[in-house]
Amino acid sequence: MEERPISTISFHQFLNEEKLMGSKCKKCGTLFSPPRPICFKCFSREMEWAELKGKGKLLTFTCIYVGPPWMIAEGYDRKHPYCSGVVELEEGVRIDARIEGVDATNPEAIKIGTPLTAEFLHRGEEGRMKTFLAFKPL
Ligand SMILES: [Zn+2]
Repeated sequence: MEERPISTISFHQFLNEEKLMGSKCKKCGTLFSPPRPICFKCFSREMEWAELKGKGKLLTFTCIYVGPPWMIAEGYDRKHPYCSGVVELEEGVRIDARIEGVDATNPEAIKIGTPLTAEFLHRGEEGRMKTFLAFKPL
């Protein structure tokens, strides 16, 4: 299927193309996203790419008031927090991502279990674009 090496770099290339990919163990079928070159379960190195649907639900989250420099550059600060969470995908994989479309100033209103769909945020300037994975409520 896909010939790209199973690596974080490839994972980010796929995000640029708006594809959420994981690696699937050919021996035991365990899925990993971000991809891992070696299976944690059976230690097999036989991995293949698997495209994920990007649908899941919110498992846990935190609202972040003091973010890393690239988030501050996007305008997030103590008055404008953002939400980061763990999403459990339909395929059973848990993935860290930004949670968009929720009110991070009002965390009580954000519900665990909210159905989410993947969104690809393209940031940066021409030639230096980076894509961030985010999820938003369906
Ligand atoms: Zn395995």
